[in-house]
Amino acid sequence: MEICIFASGSKGNCLYISDGKTFILVDAGYSYRTIAARAAAAGIDISGVGAIISTHCHYDHSRGISSVIDSLGIPVYAHADGIEALSLLYGIGKKHIVPFKGDFFIGGLRFSPYLLSHDAPACCGISIESGGRRVSIATDLGKVDEEALAHMRGADLVVIESNHDVEMLKKGRYSAALKRRILSPVGHLSNEQCAEAMEKLLEWGTKAFVLAHLSEENNLPELAFSCATQRLLSLCAREGRDYSLYLAGQRWPTGVFAL
Ligand SMILES: [Zn+2]
Ligand SMILES: [Zn+2]
Repeated sequence: MEICIFASGSKGNCLYISDGKTFILVDAGYSYRTIAARAAAAGIDISGVGAIISTHCHYDHSRGISSVIDSLGIPVYAHADGIEALSLLYGIGKKHIVPFKGDFFIGGLRFSPYLLSHDAPACCGISIESGGRRVSIATDLGKVDEEALAHMRGADLVVIESNHDVEMLKKGRYSAALKRRILSPVGHLSNEQCAEAMEKLLEWGTKAFVLAHLSEENNLPELAFSCATQRLLSLCAREGRDYSLYLAGQRWPTGVFAL
């Protein structure tokens, strides 16, 4: 499999995954034009993309879905309990939406969705498997519960949210209500919460992590990175020797991860 994160964060999200035969986008938080430009910057042609998988209806994940559907004539797959919101908020006709609840296949890719603790209808994390390799994507969650951990367990690559530094958020300029929302169990993961989950996942065999959905307002890449590496150092695990750690940003695509 090849994975590239074209953009990650509260201004827009889009991830690309392919097994060489089937080409998929997870979320479309930008217009088709911007996504195609990001893809080109990463050396990827998205004209063959066959479907979009929607994780949830929030603007930063869904506002470009209509534009991608119109440009490529492809369907969007969404959790059955999230379809109503997706259709209502973005005017996406239901004939373009394929509902899922459990596992499903597109070509040779197996998708296993799982519910995340987040303030949107049926917000999903997704594990994607092909040829015995598995990637799991969990962004937009206020806590890592047992179900999410169980689904991420043993994945070769985990893309996980490291949204904010708690002190930066508390001292920052967001309203009290927004701070409460982000810190709540249905908001977003702090660097510490992310690192705690990574510690378990590393012990269970995951060797590569991408920190995603970093706040540009309430976090710094170096803080997220050092929080994770410090935590894993307590297991005597060193970045580069025992595991790989990458960051996905808002403005540039990541490199292409090959599994
Ligand atoms: Zn988001
Ligand atoms: Zn969200």
